[in-house]
Amino acid sequence: METCRFTFDRDVPVLRDTDILVVGGGPAGLAAAVCAARRGKKVVLAERLMCLGGTATSGLVGPFMTCTDPDGTKMIIKGFYAELVNRLIAAGGAIDPMSIANGDAYSSWHSKGHRNVTPFNSEAFKTVAEEMCEEAGVDILYGVQSLDIKKNGSRMEGVFFLAKEGVVYIKAKQFIDCTGDGDVATLAGCPMFKGDGQTGEMQAAGLFFSIDGVDESKLLERRAAQGEMSMRFTPEIETAMAAGEYPIPRKRLGLYKSCDGTWRCNITRIPDVDGSTTEGQTAIMLTGRKQIMAIIKFLRKYVRGCENIRLVETATMPGIRETRRIHGDFVLREQSLIDGEVFPDTILVCSNSRDTHIGLGGIYIPSTTSYTLPYRILLPHGIDNLLAAGRNVSCDRPVLSAIRVMPPCFGLGEAAGNAAAIAIEQNCACADIDVKLLQQRLTSENACLEK
Ligand SMILES: Cc1cc2nc3c(=O)[nH]c(=O)nc-3n(C[C@H](O)[C@H](O)[C@H](O)COP(=O)(O)OP(=O)(O)OC[C@H]3O[C@@H](n4cnc5c(N)ncnc54)[C@H](O)[C@@H]3O)c2cc1C
Repeated sequence: METCRFTFDRDVPVLRDTDILVVGGGPAGLAAAVCAARRGKKVVLAERLMCLGGTATSGLVGPFMTCTDPDGTKMIIKGFYAELVNRLIAAGGAIDPMSIANGDAYSSWHSKGHRNVTPFNSEAFKTVAEEMCEEAGVDILYGVQSLDIKKNGSRMEGVFFLAKEGVVYIKAKQFIDCTGDGDVATLAGCPMFKGDGQTGEMQAAGLFFSIDGVDESKLLERRAAQGEMSMRFTPEIETAMAAGEYPIPRKRLGLYKSCDGTWRCNITRIPDVDGSTTEGQTAIMLTGRKQIMAIIKFLRKYVRGCENIRLVETATMPGIRETRRIHGDFVLREQSLIDGEVFPDTILVCSNSRDTHIGLGGIYIPSTTSYTLPYRILLPHGIDNLLAAGRNVSCDRPVLSAIRVMPPCFGLGEAAGNAAAIAIEQNCACADIDVKLLQQRLTSENACLEK
């Protein structure tokens, strides 16, 4: 690509001087910021959009995926996640995951790998997230996009943001990259994986939308008469494709009943885009919205029970499954998930399925065992005071395909927020913190660290 030199030789305002700077206010960033602030630290949460939640709100993605062991007998992702869910339930904005029957409409009728999902309302999420931040003393800044970083040797000193005023600078002692794409770690020069880690191929993206006016009784009749697989509506899709009425390169529907009378739709498919670029993100939005308009027509014409649906909204943020993630000194590999490995530095237990969306198809492997995630996957190489949490941690592609869903992202954020606080207290690199103390603190927050 042709380049043009950017020089910016002027002083910019130091907007904040803080203990911990969390960049990105999605599931991971929210949990990181609140949990760090509850440890008595000054925390700034910098988010480029105008609400918290990331994929959960602006991306309209839901439900929160599985939070239990593979049999659905025990909730294993707890801590901050359970607290948030309880607060959402109290606000009338979620349903208790332990009350969700396996294979019902809330899980899009999947009986394998989609146990105990949590349907939630995105507007309730926005409000509850801001309340939790306010109570903990988190300093939220909206409309700030990371632009560059300042570092001294192996320590970051601050992040420059593009803000309403122009360029601003935020100084901090510790940094947590929760941008989903590892934007901060990339700016800091940390080694990164992209996509499959070899060719750079990335999983297909999507754009969520929500509808109402579904006649659920008709869908239930079909489920009872024709079984779980029929809820993909593949024969109807094939008929519409043959008639030139279905320009989406995926032959299945994903209709998830939510808690507020709407249904979240995971149906669009946009392969071969790089969601970490401006052009890629634009392509997802443009193609996604075109696909949505075609899907609405298709649903009304071909799907019994959807004749009278109404489009409620389309996501305002692209649905990106995979871009960059840190390539730390330790990389979590698929075999550990298969074996249900227990790490000495466990920060989270989960059981989410491997679900890799490649091209037009994918590989879906429900877990048969719970597995643990080690603290080391939060540590980028080369920067002592930076952690990564959420979708951009150090792992191979199959692991990412499992732990990218929201419940693990909340859990990873909770661990990162606590770890950053400990690094300040112990005046050491993130890699050198007392991990036993981290585990004690997570346990005291009701996180589950044992299978
Ligand atoms: C099509 C699709 C379907 C999915 N289905 C489900 C599902 O059913 N259930 C489930 O639990 N999960 C699902 N997921 C996965 C899940 O939604 C995400 O992987 C998860 O939310 C990632 O959380 P995060 O906090 O790491 O990142 P995000 O949710 O992406 O949050 C990142 C935040 O950082 C902000 N940000 C990004 N860059 C910058 C920057 N440079 N400066 C400042 N702010 C920045 C963003 O605006 C955003 O708010 C799905 C994902 C996709 C794409």
